[in-house]
Amino acid sequence: MGMQTIGRPTAPFASDAIANDTISGSRGLLQHEGLIFEVGSPDKTGVDLPKPKGRTDRLGGVARKVDTGLPGLTEPEAVRHYMRLSQRNYAIDLGFFPLGSCTMKHNPRLNEKAARLPGFADIHPMQPQSTVQGALALIDELATWLKTLTGMPAVAMSPKAGAHGELCGMLAIRQALIARGEAGTRKRVLVPASAHGTNPATAIQCGFIVDEIKADARGRVDMDDFKRKLEHTDDVAGIMLTNPNTCGLFETDIKEIADLIHDAGGYFYCDGANFNAIVGRVRPGDLGIDAMHINLHKTFSTPHGGGGPGSGPTVLSDALAPFAPVPYVTYDNDGYHLIEQIEGEASDAFGRMVAFHGQMGMFVRALAYMLSHGADGLKQVAEDAVLNANYVQARLKNVMTPAFDGFCMHEALFSDAFTADGIETIDIAKALIDEGYHPMTMYFPLVVHGAMLIEPTETESKQELDRFCDALEGIAKRAAAGDEAMKGAPYLAPMKRLDETLAARKPVLKWTPPAPEAIAAE
Ligand SMILES: *Cc1c(COP(=O)(O)O)cnc(C)c1O
Repeated sequence: MGMQTIGRPTAPFASDAIANDTISGSRGLLQHEGLIFEVGSPDKTGVDLPKPKGRTDRLGGVARKVDTGLPGLTEPEAVRHYMRLSQRNYAIDLGFFPLGSCTMKHNPRLNEKAARLPGFADIHPMQPQSTVQGALALIDELATWLKTLTGMPAVAMSPKAGAHGELCGMLAIRQALIARGEAGTRKRVLVPASAHGTNPATAIQCGFIVDEIKADARGRVDMDDFKRKLEHTDDVAGIMLTNPNTCGLFETDIKEIADLIHDAGGYFYCDGANFNAIVGRVRPGDLGIDAMHINLHKTFSTPHGGGGPGSGPTVLSDALAPFAPVPYVTYDNDGYHLIEQIEGEASDAFGRMVAFHGQMGMFVRALAYMLSHGADGLKQVAEDAVLNANYVQARLKNVMTPAFDGFCMHEALFSDAFTADGIETIDIAKALIDEGYHPMTMYFPLVVHGAMLIEPTETESKQELDRFCDALEGIAKRAAAGDEAMKGAPYLAPMKRLDETLAARKPVLKWTPPAPEAIAAE
């Protein structure tokens, strides 16, 4: 026998090699919890059913003879298991979520109330259209708001996420090129170096070739590089560009970019995930954009990330509108109708992207959000989001290194230039966890070394931003001083520093029962 150590001698659950150093593995009132297979056992159950009597085998003798291996839990064990796991989650309803490029803003409860109305929540997509006129009217009204806010003539409502909206826009562009007889020659899509990873992925998914445009010293599209790529060629299908871009900056040359790409015979796809920064202030249609997805779950506040599904309606210019996918809603004297077939007015549609009509619950939430803010309120959303980001940048610029000079839009971007040798962006992110904050976006955009991208959104108060900046300021000073202890953070979270490379490269996705212990000889 070795010496008794203080604290827990062995992990109560084999799955948990790095639990808190207490006898129980719990810390404070935060309960420790193993995998459901470790908590459960075959001799426990949450139900009490009589054994079936006189059952005859109808499986021809191939019925399973060994145990299924499913964990048996009592009802309180099952309830506690999921409750405890939920307490390990971080959520926008728990605290500030500075993740850049994600617009993690508060989701007003009013939206939820509207989405749960039985007339919206309990209908079925295959109900006769005459019985869902209200739902179709809502889709149509939301479409009208989106067209008005973007200054675009058409919108495809069915895409179910931002990336899905990109696919919609690029498929519309491909269809337009097919109609022009140029799909075979126009293969190249220009994508700035700062682009979100979904942009090049979408272009390739649609059969295009991606050609990267350099960023200039101001974090914007390098116009010389862009112009060079358009010279002496007719193989450009279009450009995919984010505005404000993923450096949190407005592309100042956007109108020239639009004119040049159109002159070259290409289309202009704008990634509209950052619309929160300009909603009510700038209409993408006025900038010469042909297609842009809108992340309802970002700009128009519906729970997302771990919290719920997305929705990515895609606005289209006159040039692309005929190619919009089915289904879509129309209105005449007989009421609202769903155009479901590729015929008649929809005969140029590129196809259909989803089984039904889109994310109805998200549509209700987004329209509730728009109507409760009004046009003036939406404009203020953009102004406050930009103000908050600039506040964060101003508060931290003396202890961290802003990636670019000048004001930012809705996101503050820092490089890791201020850290001492050996301390990296990931150490700062992990130290933030100990301070009670979800980390900011790290190492993205790729054009900035050790990037830290912070998007506070408009829903955080000055008090909350100050609390966050105080914490990050302290961490930044430790990073500049080369505090080695940061390399072990987080110390206070249920899970300590994990080997993330190993977890990504060799994920353990299957639970294996521990080998039975050898019975000791008497
Ligand atoms: C979030 C985001 C996307 C992708 O949106 P999803 O809804 O996650 O598919 C694309 N581009 C940018 C710039 C984004 O921030």
